[in-house]
Amino acid sequence: MVEYQDILNEIHDTLSKVKNTGEVANYIPELAKVDKNHLGIHLQLITGENFAMGDSQEKFSIQSISKVLSLAKAFQLIGTSLWGRVDVEPSGNPFNHLSLLELENGIPRNPLINAGAIVIADVLLSNLKNPKEDFLNFVRELSHDDSIEYNNAIAESERVTGFNNYAAANLLKSFGNLHNEVEDVLDFYFHQCSIMMNCQQLTNAFFVFANKGKCLKNIRHLSANKVKRINAIMLTCGFYDEAGEFAFEVGLPGKSGVGGGIVALLPHCYTIATWAPALNPQGNSYLGMKALEHFTTKTDLSIF
Ligand code: GLU
Repeated sequence: MVEYQDILNEIHDTLSKVKNTGEVANYIPELAKVDKNHLGIHLQLITGENFAMGDSQEKFSIQSISKVLSLAKAFQLIGTSLWGRVDVEPSGNPFNHLSLLELENGIPRNPLINAGAIVIADVLLSNLKNPKEDFLNFVRELSHDDSIEYNNAIAESERVTGFNNYAAANLLKSFGNLHNEVEDVLDFYFHQCSIMMNCQQLTNAFFVFANKGKCLKNIRHLSANKVKRINAIMLTCGFYDEAGEFAFEVGLPGKSGVGGGIVALLPHCYTIATWAPALNPQGNSYLGMKALEHFTTKTDLSIF
């Protein structure tokens, strides 16, 4: 019997002695206000058992973690035709990268880089009646939690400084790969990134990817086949230009965000989320990566 709580406590003790050399993201001014000394972990087993440590109940801006949820919704809505709009190859580029290399004839490298997520936002705008409301409801349904909300101040802070994302969206528009207005697509994108969730809510929302498409309440939201594809994209593209490093150190499909969150999962076994706002130079949570490396090494529970 694995003593999960003991392992989480040990990780906390070990990391509290590590010098946290990371820095909080400051290119979105609202995110720069967050205290970098938080550390929380929540573990959700497929059996329904939960274990937690530190600031696991404190909400933070999920940022790019939302890209997996928007991908899931778009894939659920339009199926494999999605792959005509966005590719599934890792980019190996940093989180803030913008270049024509992200786009092959207007097709972004994958749905988890900004250009790809902006195309996914466009698909949702075209296929949802009330896009922002419907998407938030989807996230709430997966998490079984109606308290999840957008953070309008963070969305606005990103809008006024979002020059890279405007450039990417305009480029996509010029290639004909955005069907809605740039301003509307980005308004949706900035809001999805602003969603506030805590570690437990993230492990609940991502349960569907560990459980072949069924959520915590055993309701099917995605086919097992679609979940297999989404997990593959998380593994190969979920950590900017550190996807290889994350597979090497941690060995799980997952996704990080510049708000300092990471969520990862072992299919048929567990979901785990960490929050530690200071980021390493690649844009991934400095302590979150270390926590997950310790966790999969101590438990010997990774996909490898
Ligand atoms: N909203 C952020 C951006 O577009 C997301 C960055 C991230 O978490 O990777 O820059």
